[in-house]
Order: sequence, then C-alpha cells, then structure tokens
Amino acid sequence: MPYQGGNRLPAEKASKLGHLDVIRSPLVQQLCKNFNDPNCCLPVSSKILWQNLPNSGNEANIIFSTDGSLQVIENRQPPHKAIAFVKTVLFKIDQHAISKLDRETPNPFAIRDLMSDSALFHATAFPLRHAVIPGKTIYHAVREIIYESIKDKGLNDAIDGAIMETLKWLVYEKWNPTPKTQLEKFGCPHCKENVATLQFDEEKGKCPGCNGEIYITDMFGLHLNMQDDFAPNQVASDYMSVNETLMIFTPIRYFWETNKDVLKNCLMIKDGPLSLRATLAKLAAPIRRFFRFAKESEVEIAMIGQEKSGMFYDHLQLIGNTAPNYSIFIPNNEYIRSEIQHSNSIGIYGQDTNYGAKVFIKYNDYHKMVINIPTGEKGEFVNNPSSANLIAFERIIATLPKILSNRYEGALFPIELANGVASLSTYPSAKVLKLFSKDAIEK
Ligand SMILES: [Zn+2]
Repeated sequence: MPYQGGNRLPAEKASKLGHLDVIRSPLVQQLCKNFNDPNCCLPVSSKILWQNLPNSGNEANIIFSTDGSLQVIENRQPPHKAIAFVKTVLFKIDQHAISKLDRETPNPFAIRDLMSDSALFHATAFPLRHAVIPGKTIYHAVREIIYESIKDKGLNDAIDGAIMETLKWLVYEKWNPTPKTQLEKFGCPHCKENVATLQFDEEKGKCPGCNGEIYITDMFGLHLNMQDDFAPNQVASDYMSVNETLMIFTPIRYFWETNKDVLKNCLMIKDGPLSLRATLAKLAAPIRRFFRFAKESEVEIAMIGQEKSGMFYDHLQLIGNTAPNYSIFIPNNEYIRSEIQHSNSIGIYGQDTNYGAKVFIKYNDYHKMVINIPTGEKGEFVNNPSSANLIAFERIIATLPKILSNRYEGALFPIELANGVASLSTYPSAKVLKLFSKDAIEK
C-alpha cells in the first residue's frame, strides 16, 4: 500500500516495474488467458433446472410498492460531523391506472396526479457523529429518534401512527387469535443484560433488570452498534430497511383487519430482498409465521422483493442469457452455497434473516429478474425447493407481465415509480438537505 497524500505533500506512487517478473510465470500466463475467455468457468448447466412458468393464475388488480433512500451528509473537515436523512415511500397503483400510463415515456403530469393521491411518505434524520443535541448523547438521541419516527404521523397526516400499529401487529402477532403476551427478551440499552421485554401491545416500558426506559424499537438492537457519541451509517440503513418493511405491511394489516378478501387481489412489491439482516431478523420470524398463518387461513398474500444488485443479480447475468423464455429457476441450498455465494458455510442460507425464497425468472431477453417470494417456512424450503411452496405464485406470475417497464431491463413499473418518489439523490431535496444541514453541521 502506498502512502496517502496529505495537505502538504502528494501521495506516494506505486511502481509498475515490479510487475515484469510476475507476468513471465506460466501460471500467471494461464490465468490471464482464462481471464480473457468469456465462456470459461460458467456454472455447470446441469445443475440449473429451468422450469416453465404457469399461465393459470388471476392477475392482481391492486399493487402496493415500497422503496426507501438514504443520504449521509458528512462534513469533509475533521471531526467529520455527520447526519443521515432517510426517506421511505409507500405507493399504491391499480391495473387501470397502469394501463393508462405510457410505459416508455410516462407523462410527468400523469405521474404527479397518481402520486398526489396514492403515495405515502415518511422522512426522518439521525445525528450520527459529532452532532450535538443538548442534554443527550448520540446513543440515546438516536434511540429516541428511531422510536419517535416509527410513531410518526407522517408528512401527510395520512400515516397517522399507522407504522407503529403495524410494528405492534407483527411483533405481538395480533393477526393471530392468540397473540403473544410479551416480546421475546432482548438486550437492554441501559444495563446491556438480555432481560428487556414489553407486555402485550406496549410501546415503551421499564427494563425489569435496571428500571431504565425501553422502547419497542430497542428490540431491533441497533444500539448494539452505537457508542455514546458515535453511530455508524449502518444504523440509518438498518432503520430504513425496518421502515420499508413496515410500510409494505401496513396495507396488509389494514385489509386483514377490515376486509381480508381484498388481499386476494393484491400484489405487494418491495424494492430489495425479503430479508432483515443481523438483529433485525427479530422481525423476520413473526413475518414468516404470519405468511404461514394467512396461507392456512386461505388468504394467500402475494408479495415479492426484487433484487436489483448483489450476488444473486450478478449470477442472473451469468446464467440468464442461455435460459429459455418464460421460465423459472429456484436454486437449492447447495447451489446457493457453492455456485452463488462460493462459501463453505454449512447450514441453510439465510434461514434466520430471510422471509422469501430466491427465484430467477426470465420472461424474455429483456425481462429477466431476481425476485424473492415468501413460503412461510424457516429456511424457505431451499433444501428442496418447488414452485408449489411459493405463496400466491400463480397470481404473482400472472401479474408481473402487466407491470414490466420498458425503460430499464428487468424493471417493474411500480418499483420504478416508488423509486422516483423515494430517491433523495435525484430529487431537488438532496441539495436542500445539504443546505439546511450545513448550519447544523458547521456549528
Ligand atoms: Zn436494563
């Protein structure tokens, strides 16, 4: 590693002369030859079982989609004060509205009209480093902001505490006739003991060990990564991932409580995998139980998460071109471990964190995608996957062709729309955020 540049002197440059001996080695020459061969080292095709897609399902006529965006504004001068802004959006669209929009060049005014009565927004900000909140450490300020943000009334009053209701509905399992009487024990943010819990339907209470105040949102354990005056950017992205999940479950809770039959005509689309990392997985377990319970109650909830980057997406670029049109491939655990993750880990991939099975779908050369579909099972049946385990599979497959976008490869129109609304970087708001955080950061 060369030395980095400072304020006074330039950076050290690495010498290229030392490479000469290396390229004479036969092993290195062989490696370079392989490197230039696009067909070398592709996954073994006999392990990839593409199957035909069904064409018997009824398409959903109401679609909800969710997306979030995150901007960390960091001062370039030491001590690098930092604030994170998080925005999430829930978007509703029906088939009728989609059929009226031009999929190649949608009219911005038509989109604006759609947004005005079918999008819900949520936004919040976190002090991450060296930002001062009088009387509070960053540790406790961030905990409080997470709690208050989940209780948020929303930018447009429409949210009205609905996100907190959804969180309680999921973690106390209020969808079940016999809900949980208390939360599974989690690490107390004050005494650090694994004794904190809350009784049914409580949003905050006292730690049984140290009597410190605990919030329902402490169950996600985001405080485990923070120190008194330091929160990593990961805290903001973890918050965003929890909030997006709660956003997409809000219409599910609403219709479950008011008219379950509506859910049989819906498709829920989340941008990104159906997965909650590390300690957030506390939310994945009740979600899996809900999907199973709903299926057993004969209300199949159609939900997908679309992966637009990452190792599964990259793998699709390897295997997708030779796949037949209108087909699906569900990789099993062994395939995921050896061909996609290239890992020696034993155990089932994502069995605690994921609530959807990974599925590769190809409609045609332009529309290939990686989506996640819930099965309601821990480990998502990856030992022996079959499309019969994928919840509301036929409805999903019947709906996707109607919402394919022609603007980007493998794109889904509702995600594209939600993306446009949620995006902090393409919106003029990114500039505004920078301006208005300038004061806070430079003080
Ligand atoms: Zn405690």
